[in-house]
This record gives sequence, C-alpha cells and structure tokens, in this order.
Amino acid sequence: MGPNEVITFELLFIGNELLTGKVLNTNSQWLARRIASLGGICRRMTVVGDDLEEISMAIEEILRRSPKFLITSGGLGPTYDDMTLEGVAKALGRPIEVNEEALSWVNQRYEDLLRRGMIKKPSAASIRAKMATLPLGSRPLRNPGGTAPGVLIEAGATKIICLPGVPEEMEAIFQGSVEAEISKELRGISFLESGFIVKGLGESFMAPIIEEAMRMYAPYVYIKSHPKHGMPELTVEFTITSRGTDEEVLRRKNEEACRYLRGRFEELGGRVLPLGA
Ligand code: ATP
Ligand code: MG
Repeated sequence: MGPNEVITFELLFIGNELLTGKVLNTNSQWLARRIASLGGICRRMTVVGDDLEEISMAIEEILRRSPKFLITSGGLGPTYDDMTLEGVAKALGRPIEVNEEALSWVNQRYEDLLRRGMIKKPSAASIRAKMATLPLGSRPLRNPGGTAPGVLIEAGATKIICLPGVPEEMEAIFQGSVEAEISKELRGISFLESGFIVKGLGESFMAPIIEEAMRMYAPYVYIKSHPKHGMPELTVEFTITSRGTDEEVLRRKNEEACRYLRGRFEELGGRVLPLGA
C-alpha cells in the first residue's frame, strides 16, 4: 500500500427531524471525530428523510464511489417510518428476511425488560420481527443499550454498517463492534500529526508558502491552517498530518515540512510558537 492509499468513509444520516431542524445532527460530529482519530478519511456526509426512495437512491449513489465503509445512522427502530434496512436491500437488490440471531437478541431484550418491570407485556411478534428483518447476507451487531441491533453488510468493496439514530445506542454499537472492524482495515497504516502557531502574519501571506510545501512534501504531508478569531494579534494555527505505511519516512517528512514552514514564516516576520501558546 502506497502513502496515498487511505481507508475512506461516507456517512448517511436518515431522519425527517434532521431535515426540519428539530434535531441537531450530533451523530455526524461524533462519528467524524471517531473515524479521524482512528486514522480513517471521511469523504462525504449525506442527510435524507425517512423515505424509502430517498434512502435507496442515496445508498446507490454512495456505493458508486466505492468507499471502504458506509456508515448509516437512524431509522432502525420498530415504527413504520424506520426503513433504513429496506432501503439498503432495495439499493442492493437483495431480499430481506428474518435473521434468527438478531431475533433471539430482540426477544431476549424484551424478556429482560419484562423481568425488570419496565414493560407490562412483550411487544407484538410482528414488531419484534421487524427489527430482526435484515437484508440477505447481513451480520447483526449487538445493541447493548437498546433493542434494534446494528447491521453489517458487505456490498462489493464496501462494508455497509447501519446504526440506530439514538446517540447512546449508536455510540455503544460503534464502540462494541464497529471500531474493531475499522481497525482491522487500518492495520499497517500510521497516522501522525504535529502543529504550531504563527502570530503576526495573515493567512493570505502564508497561502503561497503552504501550497509550495504541500507540493514539496507530497504525498507524505497534508498542511491545514486555521485562523483563530478574537485574538489581539493575527494568529493562525497549523496542523501537519501524515498518513502512510512507513512510519519512519512519515516522521522524517513531517519534521522536514514543519521546519521548512517555520523558517519561511519567520523570514516574513511571523513568530512561531508551540501549540497552545
Ligand atoms: P428508534 O428505535 O428509537 O426508532 P432509530 O434507529 O429508528 O431508533 P430514529 O428513529 O431515526 O432512530 O431516531 C430516534 C431519535 O434519535 C430521534 O428522534 C432523535 O432524537 C435521535 N437522533 C436520530 N438521529 C440523530 C442524529 N443524527 N443526531 C442526534 N440525534 C439523533
Ligand atoms: Mg425510529
């Protein structure tokens, strides 16, 4: 694997409340942060309503770009408006059928709730079956904090992972089952990040130098500048990231790029300080 090869992700959020602004899409930030910190690259996020056609169209479109992972969130529950899995099945042209393992988990969950007195009677068999009805070839993922299991489906080069919309449940399944799946793919890829702050220089003066350094140290180094607002003096924070298979080379190239940038900014009269200064 060359230094350019990366593990790509796309995220699909499903829910009318997200499109009307009733619910803030906090799951998008949570997943994006997790993926970035694991060393993956999130290429795109899409939001659609609870509509079978919209869901399946979005999935078909995403699969044409062949990300390594497609993670969906929302629409896994028992109600009529939860149609994520039907949408996945439609996009893949696969039938949906009751998954016995998933059904046993859903049944166990209701027995547990009954025993703890949290419900008076188990929900109708058809409702339980709905949450265990998965596209053919799915692997259910345990939901420790809720009823509807997550789902993993392999579709060509893409692993589709369907998670619930409720943040606590989504996070629990991600940590319990998804992270290991992602780490498996990321094995052998190193990711390192360094940074510094420049005071007394505007971003527009630095832009040509950044571009030059990106070219000089390609494909080992990615340079991102973030201007900080509300400071008494012009302040720009730099993050220099490197991703690839040879950690030694990455470390060297990252250091060289940092040294080069600092030198050029100082020549222009900027003051270079460590992060957090
Ligand atoms: P349920 O079994 O509760 O129906 P679900 O997987 O079907 O779960 P949704 O019905 O899509 O999930 O969403 C349930 C609730 O979770 C929403 O009403 C909302 O409060 C919250 N939620 C959904 N999506 C998000 C999101 N992207 N960010 C934050 N909260 C969300
Ligand atoms: Mg729901």
